[in-house]
Amino acid sequence: MLTRDERSPTYGQEHVEGNVSDFIESTFASRYVAEPLPRYQLSEYGVPAHVCYQLIKDVRALDATPKLNLASFVTTWMEPEARDLMQDALDVNYVDTDEYPSSTEIQNRCVSILAKLYHAPSVAGEEGRGDPVGTATVGSSEAIMLGALALKKAWQTRRKAKGLDTSRPNLVMGRETHVCWEKFCRYFDVEERYVYAEEGRYCATAELLEPLIDENTIGVAAVLGTTFTGEFEDVQAIDAMVDRVNAKNGWGVKIHVDAASGGFIAPFIYPDLEWDFRLSNVASINVSGHKYGLVYPGVGWVLWRDADHLPPELVFMENYLGSTERSITLNFSKGASQIIGQYYQFLRLGFGGYRKIFLNLEVVRKRLRRAIQLTEHFEILSPEVGVPVVAFRLTTLTGSDGKPHHRMYDEFDLADRLRMRGWVLPAYTMCPNAENIKLMRITIREDMSVQMADQLIIDLKNAIRWLDTHFIFTAEMAERMQKKLSLERLDSSTFNSDDFTVVRPC
Ligand SMILES: *Cc1c(COP(=O)(O)O)cnc(C)c1O
Repeated sequence: MLTRDERSPTYGQEHVEGNVSDFIESTFASRYVAEPLPRYQLSEYGVPAHVCYQLIKDVRALDATPKLNLASFVTTWMEPEARDLMQDALDVNYVDTDEYPSSTEIQNRCVSILAKLYHAPSVAGEEGRGDPVGTATVGSSEAIMLGALALKKAWQTRRKAKGLDTSRPNLVMGRETHVCWEKFCRYFDVEERYVYAEEGRYCATAELLEPLIDENTIGVAAVLGTTFTGEFEDVQAIDAMVDRVNAKNGWGVKIHVDAASGGFIAPFIYPDLEWDFRLSNVASINVSGHKYGLVYPGVGWVLWRDADHLPPELVFMENYLGSTERSITLNFSKGASQIIGQYYQFLRLGFGGYRKIFLNLEVVRKRLRRAIQLTEHFEILSPEVGVPVVAFRLTTLTGSDGKPHHRMYDEFDLADRLRMRGWVLPAYTMCPNAENIKLMRITIREDMSVQMADQLIIDLKNAIRWLDTHFIFTAEMAERMQKKLSLERLDSSTFNSDDFTVVRPC
């Protein structure tokens, strides 16, 4: 171990007569690179800044390259000017509205822009003036917690007014909803009621959701862009169903639309699709600014239809430059950078800019989809209309006997092969009750060019070719074969590849 003096980050007088290496300013000539530093507790004296920089950079070096991470919807590229603005605001605490009023103003502009985009009745007229109701959050998860809490409070208020029991709230949704919905239910004591996906149907439908609704239902969650296949749930049909159920029973069930990814896609390339506040039962909507809002993580947004749909119990009124502002968040301090980044994108791109980017993504999506189909190895599971993703799985081959023929590799092996080229193209299983379905998903983001997409297809084909010509004998297969051949042991080390015999222990 280094002595206390040797570890000193100050390079003080005591080193003048010491080891010559103390004078060499090269990071890698310093002792810190060769000596283990404590990882899970504080070191006594710290390390010099340049060494610290290098050590942390090295820790991160084995990570995937964000640009090649096809698993994530989250923004991996912004213009240098946006980066500059965001970096400038690193020291701004968003919550200090008195000291940094511009951040609050910028947030309010963003809320208004989104409320207008989602046809909130609270924002009227061409100029978008009115009383938009919403807030920036850390992401869609926080936004969903707030939206769902509002549904719960509103339900409680309705029930209490009639002197009815409020002890058993439930939330109705498809099982393909994001894990944050389950989290909400667990954190806030709400029973979750699911429509399960099945082979060929990866979304909940109005007909299947309907029977799950009862007097204790706080709301229905509809997803605009499921994480599994990018498919939009039919919010219009769900709205019509909720209308009928409410009219028949005298309930006040509302819908929250989880538009984490689709909330930025649909208004720009499917403007006629009605999924937002145009539908009368949609009470609230969340969207991730850090997905197709094109901002670095983490920023999300939650919008309410109008002030009547946001229960007063969730609102803290704060004084702000002589007027009062609604504060509706789960946390207190947070950076202002992401909100500034969001406003930069709104101002910079406008409607036309976002549309242009998303139309480009559509070009890349269609090209990838077609190329993947043409390999004849895959079946596409993502629909034509939805979030720009391509979800697919390996086809099941049919043997000459007409029976399904199982490959010796699966989507997970393919993901591993592609990882060797740097691509993160995840394999995963479908949601509970349909988890026997394995699939892969390519998320198309702004920084995926046609050139990159073409390279991906080359690498995908090469990976398949490699897998087709190399046998992957899994432990499970070995065990089955061992039993079949009554062998004492069978694995790669006991199998003789020269004459295909198995070494029998003597
Ligand atoms: C990403 C996502 C979430 C969670 O959003 P964060 O912004 O990561 O918190 C929730 N729902 C859906 C449908 C998503 O795609």
